Parts: sequence; structure tokens; C-alpha cells
Amino acid sequence: MLKSFRADLHVHTCLSPCGDLKMTPQKIVQQAVYKKLDIIAICDHNSVENISAVTKVAEGKNITIIPGMEICTQEEIHMLALFENIEAAFEMQAKVYDKLQGKNNPEVFGIQVIGNEFDEVLGFNERLLIGAVDMSIEEVVNGIHKLNGLAIASHIDRESYSVIGQLGFIPEALRFDALEISPNISIEEAQKRFSEYHTYAFIQNSDAHVIEDIGKCVTGYQIAEPTIIEIKMALKNENNRGIQNLKSTI
Ligand SMILES: [Zn+2]
Ligand SMILES: [Zn+2]
Repeated sequence: MLKSFRADLHVHTCLSPCGDLKMTPQKIVQQAVYKKLDIIAICDHNSVENISAVTKVAEGKNITIIPGMEICTQEEIHMLALFENIEAAFEMQAKVYDKLQGKNNPEVFGIQVIGNEFDEVLGFNERLLIGAVDMSIEEVVNGIHKLNGLAIASHIDRESYSVIGQLGFIPEALRFDALEISPNISIEEAQKRFSEYHTYAFIQNSDAHVIEDIGKCVTGYQIAEPTIIEIKMALKNENNRGIQNLKSTI
């Protein structure tokens, strides 16, 4: 039987240098439950190292955590990569780390905290997570698909770090699974502005870097269970699955 799941598929943690230090595993789950979300995806910049902690906090609660990552490609395009399980997410991270140069400068970009499910600090990631990975957008999309993940172009309405901002258009050969709209514009406005891309599913997420923003934008998924396979069907309107753009009610 199909149900409607409220999802915010783009949430950062304190591992992202630009993420607020209060974006800890416990606080994120607490806020997501408060916002009545059924699914959140954790998408830190170029890393998945806080996902296990968030997943452990969510155990036994009525919320699903999708392992994800926001990858910055060679062209400085942000891509959301969402995976069925943490193993696939770690495989993608290994590819990303292999092509990510440089060390973080915490004074300039912020610290990158790795935490556990008790919100204790386990350490600091020293890589330049805010940097661009030396992989083209094609390589990133193909790498995600090889691991059966979803490749979603981040915040396409933003001028910086978006596929349209960087390339001016969406190349047809790129097989994105959906296009993400930032909280800055409404879905209706996006559908008008990007009407030539109407064959793609438009989804809206919060891109939360602070606790209060979690669930600021919510997309509803009519699916049987909160899995990547089901979400993929919803994005393609297959087997009666579908999406619905919801306003945050809280
Ligand atoms: Zn981004
Ligand atoms: Zn983001």
C-alpha cells in the first residue's frame, strides 16, 4: 500500500565546514521528528562520515535516514548523491577522497566535526571538504548510478555551484534523477523559469546548515516504503508512485 512520506533530502551536519556546530546527530534527529518528517537525507560536502551517527540516533524512531553526500564536481557544480545503504555511500566517498586535494583551513572555512550518536566529538576531518573534486559532472553522475544511487542536481535556481549557474543549461546526456529547487523560490516559479526541463521531477529540500532550517522545504513522496528504489519510482511517476510539493506546516 502506498503512503505519503514527508522528506527533506538535503541536510548538512557539523561535518560540513559551513554547517552550524549545533548540527549534531542528536539535534538533527530531534528537529526532524519535531518537524514531522518521515525521511531525511544527510548530505555533507564531499563526505559521509557523520551518517552512521545520525542513523544510530534515529534507530527506534519513526524516521528514515538516507545516506547521502553533496559532491562538488570539477566544474564547481553541486550534486546530491543518495544511496540505498551506508556501504554504497562509503564506496562513493572513497572515489571522492581519491580526487579531493588539499587540507582544510578551519580559520577560513570552519571546523569539520566528526561526532558519534551521543553528540561526542570523535575527531576532525582535515580534508578540504569545501573544495571541488577532480571528477567531471559526467563521472560523478555515472559513479553514483553505478552504485545504484540517485543523482540530483542541487539548487538549480542558485547562481553559484549549480549546473545552470556554471554551464548555463542542463546537458541532455546527463541522466539526472531529479532537479532540486532551493528554498529561495517557489516550485511554481521554478516550473515557469525552468519550463524546458519539465520532463524532470522538481523536488524541494531545505539545504539546512542550521537546525531551524530542517524541514523548511518538504517534498511528499507517495511510495510503499522509504527506500531509494521507491523514491526513484516516485521521481519517474512509475507504478502509481509520485511526488507532491508540500508546504512546511510547522
Ligand atoms: Zn550546495
Ligand atoms: Zn548543501
